[in-house]
Amino acid sequence: MDYLSNYFEKVKKEKRSKKAIAFFASLDSVNEVYPQVAEDILKELKDQRAYLKLIASENFSSLATQLSMGNLLTDKYSEGYVKHRFYAGCENVDNIEQLAIDEAKKLFNADHVYVQPHSGSDANLVALWSILVQKVQNKEVEKLSKKNAMELTKEEYEKIRQLLVNQKLLGMSLNSGGHLTHGYRLNISSKFMRSYTYDVDPKTHLLDYKKLETQVKEVKPLILLAGYSAYSRKLNFAKLKEIASTVGAVLMVDMAHFAGLVAGKVFTKDFNPIPFADVVTSTTHKTLRGPRGGLILCKDEYKETIDRGCPLVLGGPMPNVMAAKAVAFKEANTKDFQDYSSQVVKNAKALANQLMENGIKILTDGTENHLIVMDVFSSFKLTGRQAETALRSSGITVNRNSIPEDQNGPWYTSGIRLGTPALTTLGMKENEMKRVADVIYDVLKNSKAAINPKTNGPSKAKSDIDPSVLTENQNEIKNLLDNFILYPELVL
Ligand code: PLP
Repeated sequence: MDYLSNYFEKVKKEKRSKKAIAFFASLDSVNEVYPQVAEDILKELKDQRAYLKLIASENFSSLATQLSMGNLLTDKYSEGYVKHRFYAGCENVDNIEQLAIDEAKKLFNADHVYVQPHSGSDANLVALWSILVQKVQNKEVEKLSKKNAMELTKEEYEKIRQLLVNQKLLGMSLNSGGHLTHGYRLNISSKFMRSYTYDVDPKTHLLDYKKLETQVKEVKPLILLAGYSAYSRKLNFAKLKEIASTVGAVLMVDMAHFAGLVAGKVFTKDFNPIPFADVVTSTTHKTLRGPRGGLILCKDEYKETIDRGCPLVLGGPMPNVMAAKAVAFKEANTKDFQDYSSQVVKNAKALANQLMENGIKILTDGTENHLIVMDVFSSFKLTGRQAETALRSSGITVNRNSIPEDQNGPWYTSGIRLGTPALTTLGMKENEMKRVADVIYDVLKNSKAAINPKTNGPSKAKSDIDPSVLTENQNEIKNLLDNFILYPELVL
């Protein structure tokens, strides 16, 4: 694909920014080996520019974050943790991992930080197993006359293994907004633990702390897991800690979705999980706007087990991603990022208010964070899948989402989740959110189930829309995006 090297030559000749030169030089280098890969990267950039991204779990990371990932650090094995490696030659990786740890400690004011998890799911697996080892295995090993786990007899080890896989986890149900890794039947978390779930109130869709307290007292879980992927309210972690303490449960919080709002000082006091939870997990790529990856923050009591995430769960860490985490954490520890985070929430509120003005049913009747869950089935008689497709055809990318007591199951669903982190990174504000809400309303109001040619009945997946309405809304989205260009330094 010659035109890629032409781009590189062009940006060099035009003395464009270092970032533009670096981006196109790297693309050009990929192109020399595998043109199709380079082309797909470029196409993705074009797509990301052409569609309005309302996926609540995505964002646009900085080019500095992206560039710190694409280098020779990817070649290093560094099993173990800082200054405790199973490989020689890890001095520079030690530095990088320590920088990421120090930045995260400063950013979140945490006792202890672990930056190795490759993803949020890995972070949860490491955290759940570390709690089990800390609370179950270590206690049993201690009882067995202070033996080391490696010195147990087969029979002793089997007894402990049975105990480890029989502990109770209580997490928010998927339909209420919890995550798969919080004890969902199809996820490993419900197979190595006895999984119980709590629901939001069926009418208000809010978490009912009183009811949760009663359930905690009944179930007596080892771990109470709080956090969500599709719940639009703040959680009161002071209250949740109190509830967990009534039965001596460990409070684990998964702040994957709202870590940026904690880092950006929007969620403070009782709504900041770090002072209250024993272990906090996160992703680094959603509201936090870093590279794809996971993160764990914990109280000192857990630091030794958490730091042994490898070999407990993980293989070798990814030093290139840890470098990008350090960069992103530094970027997040700024006034700019704090302003960004509060704008994310203002934008979500503006979007929710305008959607409700238009008569759309929003779960919990609003939002206090970066996300909104719309009930498109009761508002428009569309499944989430149909609404997702209709919106994409108008230029808006969203994802369908189950809602409490969903009548359409987890594949088609009755909901759509919307989030404002990415649009806010582009610089959009409340006025733009109103325009977006009006497009969403117009597209969904004018969409209906398509006819499935196989059954001659209505399709649950596809939708039809009046072409003139579609064109009008496509133009509106295009006009909007023309004023908020993604990575303007890369425009050719
Ligand atoms: N935890 C929560 C609350 C999430 O929303 C997600 C991802 O959507 C994860 C964990 C998993 O993160 P990852 O996709 O990085 O494994």
